[in-house]
Amino acid sequence: MVEISIVIPAYNEANRLPATVERIIQLISSMNIEYELILVNNASKDGTLEYMNSFASAHKNINVKVLSTPTKGKGLAVKTGMLSAVGKYVLFTDADLSTPIEEIEKLLPFVKEDYDVAYGTRAMKESVIVTPQPLHRRLLGTALKVILSFLIFTLPPRPTDTQCGFKMYKRDAVRLLFSRQTLDGGMFDVEIIYIGRKHHLMMKEVPVLWADDSKNSKVNIWKSMITNPAKLVGIRLKDILGYYR
Ligand code: UDP
Ligand code: MG
Repeated sequence: MVEISIVIPAYNEANRLPATVERIIQLISSMNIEYELILVNNASKDGTLEYMNSFASAHKNINVKVLSTPTKGKGLAVKTGMLSAVGKYVLFTDADLSTPIEEIEKLLPFVKEDYDVAYGTRAMKESVIVTPQPLHRRLLGTALKVILSFLIFTLPPRPTDTQCGFKMYKRDAVRLLFSRQTLDGGMFDVEIIYIGRKHHLMMKEVPVLWADDSKNSKVNIWKSMITNPAKLVGIRLKDILGYYR
């Protein structure tokens, strides 16, 4: 039985993905558990898919799934990977390992116990920020938090960081949450936490380490500034319309 599935969304990650995959298999192999690696090519235009395929054929001893999404969007890539995961516990991590894979040891105890979800946060006092995001990204992060507090998470306890790309789930929670996900882009994280709250899942925020790699970012932050507010309002409307039941 597969104990842990690791999902990596990847848009144009031919440069960053190989080292990441090597680090992950090195760590997980040392845990002596059965695991699977789910590499999700998100409509990349570089050699990402070629790398994934060559990695999979060179490592027949590891459970590697290579998936592709027809269109771009981190949310779609994560959803595709999550819904194909068969592990008892499922992690998704960004391809740049801004939160190092070793931090899985901090999340795992929670999902092994009572929690359905354990997600990394960069915003608690115990979080360790080795390299901060650039100022404009931090300001946008703060703006998002303010908007979320009156639009989405109106009641405390509010999430301290919805956007950290390092989150772990029990398998049943994966089904419940990601089968209801409607957003393909960056606001999917907010939608998933919203659905989790609606269904009274046990969700734990866990302070993690973060070493930012924004100079190689694949996120079009300016475009998201324009589209995100409507996506957030959309979450409320979809809830009223019964999408998340
Ligand atoms: N990503 C994706 N589709 C996109 C944008 C990003 O699958 O349209 C993936 C990307 O390959 C990485 C993760 O989402 O695995 C986070 O992206 P990035 O590190 O560029 O985001 P940032 O750290 O700048 O927020
Ligand atoms: Mg990153």
